[in-house]
Amino acid sequence: MSEATQKERPILIDGMGRKIVNLRISVTDRCNFRCTYCMPADNVEFMDRGELLSFEEITQVARVVSKMGIYRLRLTGGEPLLRKDLPTLVKMLDELEDIEDIALTTNAFFLTDQAAALRAAGLKRLNISLDALDKDKFTHVNRRDCLQQVLDGIAESRKVGFDSIKINAVAVKNFSEDEILKLVEMGREQDLEIRFIEFMPLDADQTWERDKVLFGHEILDIINQKYELVPIKDSLEIGPASEYSFSDGKGKIGIITAVSNPFCDYCNRIRMTADGKLRTCLFSTNEHNLKELIRAGATDSDIEQRIRAALVSKEPGHKINLDSFERPVRAMHAIGG
Ligand code: SAM
Ligand code: SF4
Repeated sequence: MSEATQKERPILIDGMGRKIVNLRISVTDRCNFRCTYCMPADNVEFMDRGELLSFEEITQVARVVSKMGIYRLRLTGGEPLLRKDLPTLVKMLDELEDIEDIALTTNAFFLTDQAAALRAAGLKRLNISLDALDKDKFTHVNRRDCLQQVLDGIAESRKVGFDSIKINAVAVKNFSEDEILKLVEMGREQDLEIRFIEFMPLDADQTWERDKVLFGHEILDIINQKYELVPIKDSLEIGPASEYSFSDGKGKIGIITAVSNPFCDYCNRIRMTADGKLRTCLFSTNEHNLKELIRAGATDSDIEQRIRAALVSKEPGHKINLDSFERPVRAMHAIGG
């Protein structure tokens, strides 16, 4: 985008004065994995397919927000690559003139087949979930025995040449410790930023406890035993991760301290579930039904008004650390992480 266009972009501000630039769009609540920190092992009730927003409906919302000041989109789920013809949606979104950046979060299982088509459709960046490089640990946490397919998906994506590929690893106490340095070293070797995310209370099994979170400072301690890290200034103002480079100049990591040091003051995003509910916070207990509005024939202006009204009451922050914390009814796979 040219400098002139950047100056013209409208600025979207929430009720707390935060600038909102990012919409996360869930395209399905279905998944081929059953990660312990996200989904139940079985008997999952999924949304009826008719409840899912169509590509046209998703694009309508994206067009509206792009005129309001949002210029970054991320597709997620559930597993977004399970949604049929996803590259078609990427292309439709890429054709919106005010959208600058389209990213995707995926478990990588289908990337060997889909990476090239997604890239060609306009996808710029990938976040790939990979919690463990030990095969048994991978199988335990994802409840699927397919580490190699995921590694192959990462390899294919590197070949295709995305602007950036980051690896997301959820950090769980008494599980992740031995995987931290292995993942860090993979990142340094393959030029991938590894991001460790503190385990959040969004698991469908509702087994989350504070004692099960491997905290950011503990992750840093593990890495510091072998490598000297250098904090990257102001990284929280750009995204949710505190980022660090290595003193030898090779590689970069990020730590998302969603529990121990929430980044809510810098939150610049809103979310839309696969069934078209706008959520102003990952932990919202209240949703705004855009699907109903769209299917009643709403104009772009109607949708814009509803989104502006929702943003006035965007939560100042989540309450994980307070006694008044209330878990959202939806688990992570149904919200869109
Ligand atoms: N299926 C895709 C994947 O796993 O990358 C996209 C959806 S998944 C819900 C998005 C991200 O949320 C993943 O990086 C996943 O590791 C993370 N996640 C899921 N449950 C979580 C939890 N309880 N705490 C922290 N992160 C979680
Ligand atoms: Fe599926 Fe992603 Fe949830 Fe794992 S984290 S169960 S891959 S949606």
